[in-house]
Amino acid sequence: MTEADRAVDVDVIIVGASLSAAAAAKRLVDAGLETVVLERKKLPRHKICSGILSPRGHRFLLENFGPLPRSVLHEPTSCRGVTFHFPSMRRLSMDFLSGPTPHLYRKQSDYWAIRRSGAEVHDETSFVGLETSTKRQVVHALHHREPRTYRARWVIGADGPASPVIRAVYPDYHQQIPWFLVGQKFHPIEHCALDPDYFHFWFHPKLGHYTWSHARDDKQIVGVGFDLGKNFHREQQKVVDYLRTQHDVRLGPADDDEACTENFGLSLINRYVFGKGNVLITGQAAGFLNMMAEGMSCALHSGAISGEAVVEASRSTVPVQTIYRRMIASEVKRCSDQWNPLMIAFRQPHEADFKSAVAELPRREQLGLVTEMLSFIRLYAKLKWGRQIVGQAVARMFRGGYPSERWG
Ligand SMILES: Cc1cc2nc3c(=O)[nH]c(=O)nc-3n(C[C@H](O)[C@H](O)[C@H](O)COP(=O)(O)OP(=O)(O)OC[C@H]3O[C@@H](n4cnc5c(N)ncnc54)[C@H](O)[C@@H]3O)c2cc1C
Repeated sequence: MTEADRAVDVDVIIVGASLSAAAAAKRLVDAGLETVVLERKKLPRHKICSGILSPRGHRFLLENFGPLPRSVLHEPTSCRGVTFHFPSMRRLSMDFLSGPTPHLYRKQSDYWAIRRSGAEVHDETSFVGLETSTKRQVVHALHHREPRTYRARWVIGADGPASPVIRAVYPDYHQQIPWFLVGQKFHPIEHCALDPDYFHFWFHPKLGHYTWSHARDDKQIVGVGFDLGKNFHREQQKVVDYLRTQHDVRLGPADDDEACTENFGLSLINRYVFGKGNVLITGQAAGFLNMMAEGMSCALHSGAISGEAVVEASRSTVPVQTIYRRMIASEVKRCSDQWNPLMIAFRQPHEADFKSAVAELPRREQLGLVTEMLSFIRLYAKLKWGRQIVGQAVARMFRGGYPSERWG
């Protein structure tokens, strides 16, 4: 018997066993579609993440998968909100609008969610290629270096930033988009003046595009994000030194670190990618990630929408891409709004109360804060897509929508 004869035949193959996959799988399994999830790593698998789930993401998990077991949480088990820090040492603390939200231990939470979706999961099985047609998609995978073949009517790529499924559908996509390096180190704490109940973020042009710190399991995480090309250890040490001299944070040498490349900023320039034909792309692979690098909530929601689009397509003659693009529009607006400085200033796209926190400051402080934020935003505007950022922001504010996405 050949490998093709042994092929597994199902309705839907989902690539990746993370949160977007769990959400998509839940919709598909509930609708009675036979669904197999392929995950390249052995489950439960490690996932680099701060794990601060937004209130909307928390509601999604509760409504779809039930109460979160203690084993899927880190210590502290929840986070009250976000504190922004500025070069002048101004600080702005914002609580999440609906109260503290879970601090997820991604290795366990993702495994819990995918099991609760009810889908069949094949771990240690890497997607390596795809042959597409209108009727059947043939997925090639490797399990312990042995080839495996799957046939499905629909394929959902829920495979994160590097998305091999996108590579199969749009071979040059990854060369067209900006890439960032994001890394964090875990430090023993000698003394830390940062409130452990908050996620701390620095709007400091000299520290990098994305600089954060928070407490986890008796350690202090210090992380940095910047455009590719700089040295992670040097950039991270700069932040550790800054925290020591400016924030009274004394940390021991890190006993663990991790870094990865991220497709940070696609939602900022509205360059989402949703797939082609019967291949759908969802979660962070599709470009969903907000300004705070908060991507779990939009991964869950976009994943669920991709599943719903397939369910609807299975019951109609309308092409699945038409359905998916119609349904995903609300999520696109929500995620892009969370980047948009005009929306942030005049509406409430985030779930922490930025406007009330600013309103509580004296007028002079408010002006100082706006000046500091603008000088930080200039850092982004200097990037090669600065003009597009401004164009997108204005189009959304005054025309009610973002210009249509360029890919897929
Ligand atoms: C340092 C850091 C901190 C973050 N902090 C937060 C935070 O506090 N809050 C928040 O909401 N978000 C945060 N994020 C973002 C969040 O982690 C992601 O946006 C979210 O995990 C995206 O989920 P996803 O389901 O789209 O894909 P992913 O979580 O990226 O999962 C993709 C899955 O696909 C699998 N896969 C990849 N290739 C293959 C293949 N060839 N075959 C089979 N499987 C494959 C991977 O192993 C993985 O399991 C952070 C990200 C980073 C890097």
